[in-house]
Amino acid sequence: MHTAVKTLLNCTILTMDANDTWYPRGYLIVEGNRIAKLGEGSCPSPRGDIYDLEGKLVMPGLVNTHTHTPSPLFRGMADDLKLMDWLQTLIWPAEKHLTAEAVYWGTSLACLEFLENGITTFADQYFFADAVAEAVKSSGLRGVLAATVFSHPSPETDRTLEAAADFVSSYRGREEETRIYPCFGPHAPYSCDASTLREVAKLAEHYGVLVHIHISETKEENEKIRAATGLSPTRFLESTGLLDRQVLAAHCIHLDDQDLGIFREKGVGVSYNPVSNLKLVSGVMPLKRLWEHQVPVGLGTDGAQSNNSLDLLRDLKTGVLLQKQHEEDPTFCTAREAVRMLTIEGARALGMADQIGSLEPGKLADLTVLDLTGSNLQPVHQGLLSNLYSHVTYSAMGANVAHVMVDGEFLLYNRIPLRVNRNEVLQKSAHMATKLMQKAGLL
Ligand SMILES: [Zn+2]
Repeated sequence: MHTAVKTLLNCTILTMDANDTWYPRGYLIVEGNRIAKLGEGSCPSPRGDIYDLEGKLVMPGLVNTHTHTPSPLFRGMADDLKLMDWLQTLIWPAEKHLTAEAVYWGTSLACLEFLENGITTFADQYFFADAVAEAVKSSGLRGVLAATVFSHPSPETDRTLEAAADFVSSYRGREEETRIYPCFGPHAPYSCDASTLREVAKLAEHYGVLVHIHISETKEENEKIRAATGLSPTRFLESTGLLDRQVLAAHCIHLDDQDLGIFREKGVGVSYNPVSNLKLVSGVMPLKRLWEHQVPVGLGTDGAQSNNSLDLLRDLKTGVLLQKQHEEDPTFCTAREAVRMLTIEGARALGMADQIGSLEPGKLADLTVLDLTGSNLQPVHQGLLSNLYSHVTYSAMGANVAHVMVDGEFLLYNRIPLRVNRNEVLQKSAHMATKLMQKAGLL
């Protein structure tokens, strides 16, 4: 079989490996879907298709650890509300009118936005998982897709355990071919009962897949679960056996020390969603205490209905500044730690750090390439690693993304999507969103 080879030349490379290896002016060779070789200076033996990336920064593809992919359909329709009001009066009623076709085009729009913002892997939690997966497959991105499970309010056809298990079994084992990593998404401790959670734990063990859930997003959630069970949400989940599986937990704002000890013991990965948390005034995730407990923390946009953009670089700056203010310490959460959160720590939170999150030979070739000639990224002081970490954390934004490669394939080059038809995605998704809002009586 012919293996495509690409050689990238004359680029600055941040590997985000354990030794902070970087190359001020280096090269990187991709063979098929994996990184074959990288190093400093001119490439001793360039092979295959040659790309001169003068003035560019090559870094690991950005990892978005929590989102609800079709949510651009709701963008700009439900702002300035409290979380439960927002869910009950707008989001859930509008979601009642969703169709697989609307989900497909909403997902396609989100994937286009992810791509244009340098996101190569994302963890989604939504229903109509088959339609989400179809759209993600056509986009070429790497999707960790959770089929959402609710036990109350009453389950609707697409949100049941059976539907989720069907989805997982149909994609499990086809990750290399589809770039889809199926998993289970029990929505939250307040929307799933103990028996459902126990079943999810069993199924996740059976299929050997991740569980993606919201935990302790609001104080009200903690009070509700405590009133019903006498336990914190974390301890309630632990009592069902769910945390014995590999778990990705979104938000994790209101945790006590016992909860943090459980996270550490069970190896729970966390998704930090600063913009969504700020917008809904949910609170500030205790990053410092999570790090003290050695919990891997990645960054997430959350859905477009509570962000409202899907620009992970912009969210990184917000998230870091919020933590500094929260700790009243400008030395907390350095730019280096921030860029790790955006890449390798996000991969760890997903349990995928052996495959993605850093640029090392043998890993999957997922790359985000920033154009360092943007005025907001100048000057670049050659030979100064801290300068690059600083630029990525405090100055860069999605608009600085020049190229994106996933699985060895350029999906975006010079900001032009190579796989998806941009105009078609914009037109179809806008049409679907209008129809949906009209049916829900919101337009
Ligand atoms: Zn969420």
